[in-house]
Amino acid sequence: MEFIQKKTMDSAVEPFLTKAADGEISLAWDRYEGQLPECGFCETGLSCRDCLQGPCISHPFRDSNKAGVCGKDKDLLAIQSLLRLALKGTMVYLDQLSDLTRGVEAGKAKPKNKVKTDQILKEVRSLLSDGGVQAKKELPKPLMRRWGETGIIPEGIARDLFKASQKLEGGMADVEETLLWAFKSSLFGWMAYGLLRDLKKSFFGEYPPTKVEVNLGVLRRETPNLLLYGYVSPILKRKIAEEAKKKGVHVTGVCTDPLIPPFSFPQVTNYGSQEIPLMTGAVDLIVAGDHLVNPSIANIAREWEVPVVSTAEVLKKEKDLGRFARQIVERAGKSFNFRQNIPRDIPEARDYAMMGFSPEQIDARKVGSALNKGQIKGIVILSGSNNVKYTQDQEIVTMVQEFLKNDILCISKGEASVTLAKYGLLNPVWRERDCGKGLLECLSSLGKEIPSIVDFGDGGVLDLLFDLAKTGKKEPKDYPIVACFPEANRSSEVSEALWTVAMGVPAYFWPSLPVTGSLKAMEALTKFCHEKFGARLNVITEKKIDARTKANLVLKALRGEEGIVLGGKPWK
Ligand code: SF4
Repeated sequence: MEFIQKKTMDSAVEPFLTKAADGEISLAWDRYEGQLPECGFCETGLSCRDCLQGPCISHPFRDSNKAGVCGKDKDLLAIQSLLRLALKGTMVYLDQLSDLTRGVEAGKAKPKNKVKTDQILKEVRSLLSDGGVQAKKELPKPLMRRWGETGIIPEGIARDLFKASQKLEGGMADVEETLLWAFKSSLFGWMAYGLLRDLKKSFFGEYPPTKVEVNLGVLRRETPNLLLYGYVSPILKRKIAEEAKKKGVHVTGVCTDPLIPPFSFPQVTNYGSQEIPLMTGAVDLIVAGDHLVNPSIANIAREWEVPVVSTAEVLKKEKDLGRFARQIVERAGKSFNFRQNIPRDIPEARDYAMMGFSPEQIDARKVGSALNKGQIKGIVILSGSNNVKYTQDQEIVTMVQEFLKNDILCISKGEASVTLAKYGLLNPVWRERDCGKGLLECLSSLGKEIPSIVDFGDGGVLDLLFDLAKTGKKEPKDYPIVACFPEANRSSEVSEALWTVAMGVPAYFWPSLPVTGSLKAMEALTKFCHEKFGARLNVITEKKIDARTKANLVLKALRGEEGIVLGGKPWK
């Protein structure tokens, strides 16, 4: 049987792997090993089960089944695998926006800025019917022209996403047309993400960059620990935090937004080790959403006698969020008393991170001037969570260390920020340790409390790039900027990679997207995208390259030197 050589580089997580093995508790890594070898058809995008005549595959060596029953050949199977992921990923952002919009419209709390909130709600409605009028007005003209020529300007959720989904049902769309539908769909994800950020700010109020504690050491021994897992409605989160403050319950999070003004939620760990907090014995109650939450949490929680409350289930029955929050907090307190005889094994590991920067704090003109003077050699946007196919955190941390040494300004968001924060990379105290001389000068010019990596937790990275382009009278595609997804996992990350490329920013995505079974699909992501958007979505098929080599590949691309674009051999 195949096995993973090293599961994590997080020294706080490692001792719990032995503890789990001793207790015969199966963790994500064990289940991954149990799945090996993975299905090659699914991995390369050469399978389909869009209808009940299937499942179908395109076999590389058997002439009798090169195409599915309906006639989808390997190129169509591969590119449709990408479209399927893009559609699903876009739904993540739309679901979160719809959730907050419904909470705001239902008057579950009072908005900080009523006028602005009403304007944003109007824009949300416009997303459904005509594809976000305001967002389109604010985009750079050359970008809109390019999107117009390729036919990917969003025209409305009802029209575009329904149509895009029909490409999986049949029809005559070829590889390039299908890919353009994947782009068009993903742009709705980008718009929803932006509106979610704006709505959060107008509803809860603006907030400055904030210190957020990270890693397992944030759990408390003498206080009930209530953990929020995944996406939980921001309004509910704030109500839980308010109740918890009154009752002395400590609220922390895993894979959840750390900042809901006026509260911040310490991050216990990141995606890959989300089962580990339970192994400490110090978790008293979990409130779980859907996105980014592994279903395995329910079983492990049972082993440790931890109640898990699913927000979706409870909110179906309880409409009063304040009452629900009170019940949850009381239950956490009772669970703490009940679990008194369970030992609490909490590691010391704890750091803090400055999180929540936005284009308001990072002056695009200063970034542009640092690029012009050669103080910084480029910008890398880091995104993505963890993937069990890699030693947890190793790829992203190693790559970032290389970027920082080479004077690359690194901007991270979401789960990538939490991962990097565990290693002190978002703590301004460690800036001198990590960065090259030019980058240090650039960061100092941007402000005193700017860490080696700048977290744009709520997004807004592209707004910074648009500001940069505007002040420099260029386009984002004319700057040395790339996006990196070193340990990608979720469909929302696929959608994000696509919208980034549509903006003219090349993306590097690991592991390979399920398109490698088709040379035509791979070429569409590189050559065709470069022609249409001035940026490629680089899918590197070579599996045996280490993180340092990957970093060098990206550095070469930033210097404008020809790097490996398609590595390895696609499965012909
Ligand atoms: S849609 Fe076509 S390729 Fe997919 S399962 Fe049905 S017949 Fe097979």
